[in-house]
Amino acid sequence: MLDNLQQRIILKARPSAQRLAIGFMALVLLSLLGLDTWQSWTARTQALHVARTDTANLARSLAQQAQSTVQEADVVLADLSERVQADGTSPAQLKRLRRLMQARTHDLPQLHGLFIYDKDGRWLVTSNDVDPAGANNADREYFQYHRFNRGDAVHIGPVIRSRTNNQLVIPVSRRIDGPDGAFAGVALATLDLEFFNRFYQSFDLDRQGVIVLALANGTVLARRPFEEHIIGTSLARGQVFSDMLPNQPSGSSMMPSIIDGVARLFSYQALDKYPLVVEAAQSRDAIYATWHANLLRSAAFILVVGAALSVFGVLLIRQIRHGQRTEAKLRNAHAALEILAMQDALTGLANRRQLDAALPHEIGRARRSGKPLGLIMLDVDHFKRFNDLYGHPAGDQCLTAVGRTVLDCVGRSSDLVVRYGGEELLVVLPESDWPGTWQVAERILDAVRGLLIAHAGNDGGVVTVSAGLHVWTPGNGDPHPQDLIQAADQALYTAKSLGRNRLHPTQPRRQVRVEAPV
Ligand code: GH3
Ligand code: MG
Ligand code: MG
Repeated sequence: MLDNLQQRIILKARPSAQRLAIGFMALVLLSLLGLDTWQSWTARTQALHVARTDTANLARSLAQQAQSTVQEADVVLADLSERVQADGTSPAQLKRLRRLMQARTHDLPQLHGLFIYDKDGRWLVTSNDVDPAGANNADREYFQYHRFNRGDAVHIGPVIRSRTNNQLVIPVSRRIDGPDGAFAGVALATLDLEFFNRFYQSFDLDRQGVIVLALANGTVLARRPFEEHIIGTSLARGQVFSDMLPNQPSGSSMMPSIIDGVARLFSYQALDKYPLVVEAAQSRDAIYATWHANLLRSAAFILVVGAALSVFGVLLIRQIRHGQRTEAKLRNAHAALEILAMQDALTGLANRRQLDAALPHEIGRARRSGKPLGLIMLDVDHFKRFNDLYGHPAGDQCLTAVGRTVLDCVGRSSDLVVRYGGEELLVVLPESDWPGTWQVAERILDAVRGLLIAHAGNDGGVVTVSAGLHVWTPGNGDPHPQDLIQAADQALYTAKSLGRNRLHPTQPRRQVRVEAPV
């Protein structure tokens, strides 16, 4: 019970070490967590930044490749239409053109074929060795486009299947005007889709990475990975074509693909000269894969460190508590020892040590307050005889009883009862004048007599005490404590010599002004 109380008092009184330990560990944990969060966030931002740069660079170089690929075909087409317009379409001329077209198709790997149609869509001349008889391409999108659109701008159409060899091709075409400016036919270059597929395959992309070549209206021309059903589909609803491209010729954004729903970082680049757009994309999963793995690793690390720190913290706090408890016990033991060191073992009264500490202190207090200090030196009468008659243990009991009685006779908490010697007791009475001191002494003598402890060797047959009284009234200078004791002792000696069982003051009785019939 007492232990618990002490413990609670200690915990309340000195929580700082524990608080400090808990605070320190919380700080370490929070710092670790904060540092890790900050690092993770930086690493994530960095990963996104690198991916953005990579895909943007890739989109830019793919756009350049697409531009030069189309431009080479465009130059050939411009040359062919100019020749048709200038030199006409005589059989000899067409023969020369076929050779030229075959040479160009051979030189440029992207070219699947070159074709010239007349105003009705009939095949005038191509890069083929032999053209199918009666073939007509008036139904083709590019043919319709040029028929109804003036101007010599190159036109790029959606992917179609070649009527020559059934391959997928991208048609690039120009209108041929007659001398009068009327529609005279179309010059067409078909770009081999396989050429783009091979090129796009050569890049090192993640498993979900994507490259797309599309018309400016969002129609897909080529894509890595190649899936035939996606060729020709429209991306017009996607964020790139609906929101971003109308405002910026290039840009990047993380979004889910409208084709397969996979979240990717898309970077797009529009071509300067042709209505084409290239997109390069890395999947979100691939971009953050390393970051994610590191995040898990560092989270595990923090968890382990946190657990270790918690265990360490619990042990530390236990140790601190244990230390505090031990300290409190020591303090209590020390206090008990101090009390014991100030007490007389037999009677429990104050001992000489305590007197030595208290008396100078009381003298100082008396001097400061100007109030007198009373002293009563007591001695059991014929105590040697008591011992001889009743034995030493009985003598001890008698001394204990006398001590308790004297203690009962002093009223104030500042009064001190000291076992001064063997059977001599000294009573110190702060703020006590002669009448007061006299009264206390009388009370003591009466009370001891009243104990009625048989003492055959003493007058009256019971234990009595004699008392020497001295009262110091502060005046000039401080007396030595021993002088005051000496004075009381001297008075005691007189009391003894006058017959014992009495009190005697150091002053003449009349000055003490107490009429005491002793
Ligand atoms: P007086 O009346 O003159 O004081 O006679 P007295 O016999 O009391 O005087 P004295 O001082 O010669 O003897 C004191 C005796 O007290 C001596 C000793 O045996 C006894 N005494 C001192 N201390 C103790 C103690 O602790 N226990 C017991 N039982 N006796 C003690
Ligand atoms: Mg005595
Ligand atoms: Mg004595």
